[in-house]
Amino acid sequence: MNRICVFCGSALGVRAEYGAQARALGQAMAGRDTGLVYGGGGIGMMGAVADGVLESRGEVIGVIPFALSGKERAHARAQLRVVNTMHERKAMMAELADGFIVLPGGFGTFDEMFEILTWAQLGIHRKPIGLLNVAGYFDPLLAMIDRAIAEGFIVTRYRELIVVESEVEPLLDRMETHRSPESIVQWMELNQT
Ligand code: AMP
Repeated sequence: MNRICVFCGSALGVRAEYGAQARALGQAMAGRDTGLVYGGGGIGMMGAVADGVLESRGEVIGVIPFALSGKERAHARAQLRVVNTMHERKAMMAELADGFIVLPGGFGTFDEMFEILTWAQLGIHRKPIGLLNVAGYFDPLLAMIDRAIAEGFIVTRYRELIVVESEVEPLLDRMETHRSPESIVQWMELNQT
């Protein structure tokens, strides 16, 4: 993959493993010549993943809304693309990347993850979506998704939209070969309605 978009927290979380795994992901991506597309922050998990890539001399593109780009928060060494709105940011991040990885984070991360899953469900893209389940952080969220399937709110095969691993290298390996399930809705059809 040429570039992966990483969604993750603007905080580091309380466990050292979170930041360590974010950095390790950045290093592993650079090792595979895979560039990083992310929110452009120099803080928290975002800063850690970007630092990991830069330490290994990889490519880092940060897409950041003007209002968030205050000098102290935008990453000083990323190639920054400054946009006007959060919606423009998400669209540009999705366009620039060949796949997505979600790391631990909060509401912003959940929002980005569910939006990109929804777009996959609608057939807007078929890029792989990986979840790095560091220290079991996402276990309750995965259980909620399984519950939504059991209760008939999510189509069973859409569970395969998410590649889940707790270690970096197996996650990257699986994403290289992953084929997303066919969408039951074709975006072209949806556009024509
Ligand atoms: P959260 O998971 O709630 O920490 O949200 C991650 C989100 O943090 C990103 O999608 C951004 O909207 C937001 N964010 C906060 N500070 C920054 C920053 N300095 N650079 C980029 N994004 C930021």
